[in-house]
Amino acid sequence: MQGIKKFVRTVVFVALLGIIGFTLYNLFFLKPKVYNLQQLEKLPKEKVVNLVVSPRAYVDRVSVVAIQGNKEILLFEGKLPKEVNEVTFTVKPESSGLKEGEARVVVKLRRFYIFEKSFEVRAIVDTQPPRIHILYAPYTVLQGGSGGIKVKLSEPAQLYVEVGGRKFKSYKVKEDLYISLFGVPVDTSPRDVIKVVAIDEVGNETVIPLGTGIKRNNFQSLRIELSGKEKVMLPKLGTILGGNYEGSNFVELFKKVNEEVRAENERKIAEVGGNSAPQRYWRGNFIQLKNSKVISRYGEKRTYTYRGKPISSSRHMGYDLASVKNSRVPAANHGVVVFAGDLGIYGNTVIIDHGYGLMSLYAHLADFRVSKGDMVKKGQVIGYTDMTGLAFGDHLHFGILIDGYEVTPLEWWDSKWIRTRIEPVFSY
Ligand SMILES: [Zn+2]
Repeated sequence: MQGIKKFVRTVVFVALLGIIGFTLYNLFFLKPKVYNLQQLEKLPKEKVVNLVVSPRAYVDRVSVVAIQGNKEILLFEGKLPKEVNEVTFTVKPESSGLKEGEARVVVKLRRFYIFEKSFEVRAIVDTQPPRIHILYAPYTVLQGGSGGIKVKLSEPAQLYVEVGGRKFKSYKVKEDLYISLFGVPVDTSPRDVIKVVAIDEVGNETVIPLGTGIKRNNFQSLRIELSGKEKVMLPKLGTILGGNYEGSNFVELFKKVNEEVRAENERKIAEVGGNSAPQRYWRGNFIQLKNSKVISRYGEKRTYTYRGKPISSSRHMGYDLASVKNSRVPAANHGVVVFAGDLGIYGNTVIIDHGYGLMSLYAHLADFRVSKGDMVKKGQVIGYTDMTGLAFGDHLHFGILIDGYEVTPLEWWDSKWIRTRIEPVFSY
């Protein structure tokens, strides 16, 4: 009997010791941290803040206080929800009574009903969105065409032109002056509103419609009957996707190459096209392949048929120009070679950066006379025409890219269009 009592007492004593020890360990050694504090460093007009507390041990209340001078303003106070280690709240500096400028923000964790632990960050309160003053914008742009704007901003900001969900970068060219070239890719609806968006360093955003109309363009449709002989070039193109396509079914393989390989090649073009130099290399109109005939235009919708049945379709994103076999291909304007290599269905391809987002692309070449990094002059021979890649005859596929999006080259060959629509962007 005595033995059992003693045993129970010992067990209770050890258990109590354990509980006390565990509590002390949690309180003094497991110090919870607050994550995402940097979200409080920049306070725009409105901001959703999400703070994560880890480990959650004994934290029961979170409060966030902003201090400006000797004024303390409570931004948030609340309990940590059960078994959740984060709180989310919205800060609206104006309605909280915060002034523009600096502030100290203190996050307090209350632990075990009495203990408190604080974390502090320096914050900038800026509730003023940037003001956009448009100095130049075209009245209209052509569906599939290009345009440019010149804009003045009231404060430094990230500025871009949005066309049908695509974003075109801008470049700061002077103190408060920004320029941007943008494209209206073929699938943009004439009803789309072109917008200018500016986001300041704190995150305040201003969006305004540009007021530039999109003029409908007529794109041709073309049916191309395949003979089956095209099969010889397909397995090599298919290897871009990995796997071995020798002996594959012609229709399936053509579809794969025309759709999946094309998508992969377009992804690469977008990647190269998104890294333009912040300077202007080009002057005057872009030049066309000498003595060439246009055999296919930008935006053309191609439906490939085999034994009369449509099997695949695609959009033609440049101009096909044919001259004599192995014609010299000139650089359309001054620039820097940013790509010279095999580009799947485009075959041997050169891409020249003309600066501020503008690039030109030359495909199906025999080989290269230039390599990546070379400065080229307008008219300089960069290669010779051929039919590498997915091409059914010797020709040059010529494309114009803005921020990696393909637009019609037609406008860029036209010196009057450049003078009236693009030069105003660059006059500052
Ligand atoms: Zn082409």
